Parts: sequence; structure tokens; C-alpha cells
Amino acid sequence: MRAKVSFEDSLAFAQQLDREDPLHRYREEFYIPTCDGGECIYFCGNSLGLQPRRARHYIDVLLEDWARMGVEGHFKSRHPWYSYHEMCIDSLARLVGARPEEVTVMNSLTVNLHLMLVSFYRPTPTKYKVLMEYKPFPSDVYAVASQMRYHGYDPGEGLLFVRGDGCGYVPLEAWEQMLDEHGDTIALVLIGQVNYYSGQAFDLRAIVEQAHRYGCMVGVDLAHGIGNLPLTLHDDGVDFGVWCSYKYLNSGPGGPAGIFVHRRHLGQRELPRFEGWWGHNKDTRFAMPLEFDPLPTAEAWQLSNPPIAALALHRAALDLFDEVGMSALRQKSLELTDYLLFLLQRIDDGRLRVLTPTRADERGCQLSLSIAEVGKEVYRRLSAAGVVVDWREPDVVRVAPVPLYNTFEEVYRFANLLKEVLSAL
Ligand SMILES: *Cc1c(COP(=O)(O)O)cnc(C)c1O
Repeated sequence: MRAKVSFEDSLAFAQQLDREDPLHRYREEFYIPTCDGGECIYFCGNSLGLQPRRARHYIDVLLEDWARMGVEGHFKSRHPWYSYHEMCIDSLARLVGARPEEVTVMNSLTVNLHLMLVSFYRPTPTKYKVLMEYKPFPSDVYAVASQMRYHGYDPGEGLLFVRGDGCGYVPLEAWEQMLDEHGDTIALVLIGQVNYYSGQAFDLRAIVEQAHRYGCMVGVDLAHGIGNLPLTLHDDGVDFGVWCSYKYLNSGPGGPAGIFVHRRHLGQRELPRFEGWWGHNKDTRFAMPLEFDPLPTAEAWQLSNPPIAALALHRAALDLFDEVGMSALRQKSLELTDYLLFLLQRIDDGRLRVLTPTRADERGCQLSLSIAEVGKEVYRRLSAAGVVVDWREPDVVRVAPVPLYNTFEEVYRFANLLKEVLSAL
């Protein structure tokens, strides 16, 4: 770890940090959206990551090969489509801290969550409840509640939430308390590893340990974690994980999602699973046997041959993560967000409050700002000034400086704009 710098509130200082930043040149790898002819301050990579310039080349290769070869491209193109997804697996395994056989890329996040629930949410009359942090992402709740009803249980009774301090913070003790109280009746704990609203990151290892003591499965939604924080899913003992790739992974709107299945669940023939031919043994798949022979890896959950154009965009984006590595990214991310925190703390306005925990091990790059009374107007004025952040009811502006393409200067300019806007209201 580099020694923590003492920050200064000046443009010159921010520019100095950019000059010293070893990752600064990666900004050139991306298209930065423009507003009124100038570059926006794009702090919305937690919602949709930016387009890597190299993505076009990956798509061009695919289009050329398809034009030249037609169906032969499945096996004979420069990057054969039959095994194209395999080119993503090692990169994804590094990003989530897994063995290669524990991950694959497929479908979209909510679809994958359903497929994981089929295998890992197996309620019984005495153990059917699901525990999630409050407030989870709605799609996850819809998925869980509908599965619960599908199994004949009532989500009104079966869905439990770990509630925190009322301001969105959920301490580890609150998880432990809920598990101590209800663990015997809980079938599954589902954690938004970084909560989308508050930006809080949870201690997976501690929660997993406690949940497993009560015989609960543990799943994680990594939509806001992957590409944001270094992850260690295998060692944490998580049972399954799901993610999307269009947020921090910059793989394009609706980009291909992924799954993690812990090795202890691989090759388990009695495990229920919805199956399709892309989960079948690769050697005999085209012999078209009618009996399913599952792959011994997470690929056993694959259903269909995947959209290669979407995978090409994914591959282009993952190359950048391979090049930079999560530890360098996290190092810059900590400095970037620490700088933002430092500047925010100097804004003397009682209406402004940072909801996200300030402790580094409890957050990624996003800070969620609660702005009382004038939040919506602040959001409008920031947007009009070329700042791309997002608004979440009732009073939250989510701000995510992304280490791959954002700069210290942008953080400085953002904080200054916010100060100006607040003092004018
Ligand atoms: C973004 C996000 C999703 C999105 O689900 P899709 O199936 O990709 O539309 C789901 N869960 C969480 C926590 C998210 O942040």
C-alpha cells in the first residue's frame, strides 16, 4: 500500500494526483460522453460503464468472420464461437476470486438468479425463509418472492430483511442477530455484496460462516461488487454468486452476466437444476444424445449457445481488467473516493450527508449522498452543468468515480460544483 497522502482542496493538487496516477492513461481507452460539446463528468459507471474504444475491433473481427465463413465460424473463425465464452472464464475467475471451473458467463443477472435459486433454494416446511439486507435491489426480491410462491410458501412471511440503523447502514451484528433468531428456519441468505443504494460492502466471510452454522445456503449478488472491489468468493465459502457486466465491467448495455458456483456443489448429480444442451458434455454435445451429461463445471448451468456479439464486447472490456488488475484498480479507487470524501467533508452544509460507510473496507468507489430538502434540485442543476450521476428517491444522489476512467480533477470539479449549487439554494 502506498502511504496515504494528505489531501489538498485545490485544482492544482488534483491535477498533480492525476500526473502521479499510474492508471491515468487508461482513460484514453474509453469514449467519454459529451455534454454541450465538452466532456461530461461521468460518475455513473455503477449504472452503465463506458465504452472501451477497443470494443469495435472485437466486433469487427466477429462480423468479418461471420461474413466470410458462415456456420464454419463456429469452429474455424479466429476466435471460434463454439468455445468463445471460455475466453472470459479465467478473467472472471480472477475478478471474483474463484477457481476457473467455478464460473461461467451466460444470460442476464435476474435470469441467472432464478437458475441459481432452482438449485440452491430448496425450501422445506420448517426451513423455507430467505434473509436479505434492507433495502435490496427490487429485481432480486421479485425473483426470490416468486420462487417462494412457486414452492408454495408465502413471501409475506418467508422473506426476512436485516434492517440496519434506519439510515441504510446494516452492521454485521444485525446479520448475526437475525441468523441467531431465525437461522433454523432460513433456507437461503442472499446478500447484495455491495448494496446498490447505500454503497455499503458486506463482510461475506463472516456472514457465510454464521449462515453455514445454521445450515443456510448463501448467495451473493455482485452487480455492484464485480470490477469494483477485489473478491474472494471461493475462500469466503459463498455457495453461489451472480453478476451483470454492464456496470463496472463496461461490457455494454444488457451485456452478458455470470455465475459462480462453489466447487463443493459441482458434479453433484442429485442437485436439481434447469438444464439445456450448452450444459452438456462438450465432447458428445453434437452426437445429440437424449440423455443429459452435465459438464463438471459451472458451465453445467448454461442453457443455450450464447450471443457472440455480446461476448465480444465483454471480452474487450475484460482485457482491460486483465491488463490493470484489481489490486491496482482498488488502490486508485480508494484514493479517488477518499479524495471525494475529503472534499465533501469540507462542504459546510447540514443538508448534505454521506450515507455510505466511510471505512474503506465497507465500501467500493460509490458514495451515496443524502441531500435533504433540495436533493432533486441539486441533482437537476448538477445534470445541467454536465455531471452524470443518478437520483434515487427520496433524497439520494449516487456518485461513483470509477478508477479505470475517472480522474482526480473530475472529483475536484464535481465537489466544487456541488458546493456552489448547495450554497445557491
Ligand atoms: C443492476 C442490478 C441488477 C440488474 O438485473 P438485470 O437482470 O441485469 O436487469 C440486479 N441486481 C442488482 C443488485 C443490481 O444492482
